[in-house]
Amino acid sequence: MADIIRLLPDHVANQIAAGEVVQRPASVVKELLENAIDAQSTDIKLIVKDGGKTLIQVVDNGIGMSDTDARLSFERHATSKIQKAEDLFNLHTKGFRGEALASIAAIAHVEMMTRTAEDEVGTHIKIEGSKVISQEVAVVPKGTSMMVKNLFFNIPARRNFLKSDQVEFRHITDEFHRVALAHPQVSFSFYNNGSEVINLPANDFRKRIVQIFGRKTNEKLVPLNEETQVVKITGYVQKPEFAKKSRGEQFFFANDRFIKSPYLHHAVLGAFEGLIKPGMHPGYFICLEVDPATIDINIHPTKTEVKFDDEHTLYAYLKSTIKHSLGQFNVAPSLDFEKDQNLETPYDFRDKAVSLPSITVDSSFNPFEKSGTNNASGYSRQPSAKGWESMYHGLERKLPQRDIGILEMESEGINNTIFDTSVETQESVTTTFQLRKKYIVSTIKSGMLIINQSRAHQRVLYERFLKNITIKEAVSQQLLFPLNLNFTRGEISILKEIKESLCAVGFVFGDITPETVEVKGVPVVVTESEVQMVMEQLISDFQMEVAEDSFSQVDMLAKTLAKTLSVKTGEVLDERSQVGLVNDLFACKESALSPFNKRTYTTITETDIDRKFI
Ligand code: ADP
Ligand code: MG
Repeated sequence: MADIIRLLPDHVANQIAAGEVVQRPASVVKELLENAIDAQSTDIKLIVKDGGKTLIQVVDNGIGMSDTDARLSFERHATSKIQKAEDLFNLHTKGFRGEALASIAAIAHVEMMTRTAEDEVGTHIKIEGSKVISQEVAVVPKGTSMMVKNLFFNIPARRNFLKSDQVEFRHITDEFHRVALAHPQVSFSFYNNGSEVINLPANDFRKRIVQIFGRKTNEKLVPLNEETQVVKITGYVQKPEFAKKSRGEQFFFANDRFIKSPYLHHAVLGAFEGLIKPGMHPGYFICLEVDPATIDINIHPTKTEVKFDDEHTLYAYLKSTIKHSLGQFNVAPSLDFEKDQNLETPYDFRDKAVSLPSITVDSSFNPFEKSGTNNASGYSRQPSAKGWESMYHGLERKLPQRDIGILEMESEGINNTIFDTSVETQESVTTTFQLRKKYIVSTIKSGMLIINQSRAHQRVLYERFLKNITIKEAVSQQLLFPLNLNFTRGEISILKEIKESLCAVGFVFGDITPETVEVKGVPVVVTESEVQMVMEQLISDFQMEVAEDSFSQVDMLAKTLAKTLSVKTGEVLDERSQVGLVNDLFACKESALSPFNKRTYTTITETDIDRKFI
């Protein structure tokens, strides 16, 4: 047989490798920003157009490149950052693989201008799909400007796979934040489609955080400071009372590099244990400094996951450092901390001249109502009772008198079809009880009906929201005093994306600034104290999962609202609410499943029960 193995031509090898390095425009942004940092720049400008699909440009004032280096930098495995394998154990740079520029040049139109401090003139190179188009001498400022145009121009499948400009822009912003946070001493500016997104003068870490996440962040930060032989821990955690429903601001940096570490994240959560409610997420900006020899950043091609030599020790140190700092903060004369979470109004009362009377805004809320009663869990639906009950207005009319007693459902058939709501004769359930604050149990002709309260309510709310959105007839309650809610710039941009759908479910917005949103009206099922939490949840869901078209956006919105606002396991429901919920569930189009495709109820027939008595 003839030999059939061939070495791939460089440009093909580069294209294949590019698949690893460049997943989306944000990956290019990351590589270019890191190269600029490695080149000791003190001022870096990022310019993008159309979510980075048309243009990504990074201009730096770093060391630049000689004309030979400029040409070489686009070769695979061409790097100035390491020379031998041992250097991998003493890395002080972001890059070291010498792959990024070669990969990027294989799948885009690239133009580079660069000059070193010693040279009087610089170099201008154009490369398209790994092919050098031109290399000329040029009069350019010291430093490097990298322009990456028409990403994936020669791989249509990858180009088509890209998400909307807004989504890609969001990913770019995330990368930008990570690099900008890791290097507060460098000044950054960021332009999108011709206008400035943010301008960050050189600063210290705390101020950089505040520059990016907004003025409000400052008061939330608790500093960390611990130096041991293994690690130096600095940075900030956010005070427990500012924990959010969404995972928003959580950053680890190891030796000035943004990293992800589920293990260390767990250490942080451990330190916050008992200080925040389950399901809430603390914010943190934690910098770890370790000996470069004890850290392996090689395990992941995009390099956000790292391996520490002694993770267990690190875990322990981190946890105790945070605990210590939180403890110190706690003894400080701050009354905030012991406050009931629900009293912590999510918006700024102090900005209002008439703050005292505005307490009446949330009249349903009484923090003392439940204390000392038999509600051992301390967890109740009380703060949102207003919204919850409003769902069941008019219920009385629908229900037969209570003294009718157990009324059995008429419909015949087997398990799942028994509740087919198309059956006209369906009767309302009237007697229910709650089992373990989780299930609602009722009787039916064939035996017993067991409903998962949380899933059932999700289904009810989901269909209601969908309907509201489709018929554009959301019921909104006007707020007496508009709320001014604070968000980060990133969150605000997501909010703008989904604003129309939010209005469709009943939110009414006033002014939106880069960091605040004025909320003038909310859907009836949302109470004022829940607004911030609900909006945070919505934003975080949209951050995690990207809605492609307007239908899926609406669907996702309805699901998130349903999930966030539904009664949860552990909540006590009075009998009226139980009955209402059951009847509403079976009035749904798809009562058997939650919006997340989980069973909402099950039945146990008399035969099932009989069998147990054999
Ligand atoms: P790596 O960063 O892993 O070394 P890259 O492909 O990103 O690989 O870059 C190749 C080389 O090009 C770098 O090692 C560096 O010498 C040079 N280089 C890239 N970008 C810049 C820049 N902005 N300023 C100066 N030199 C640069
Ligand atoms: Mg690099």
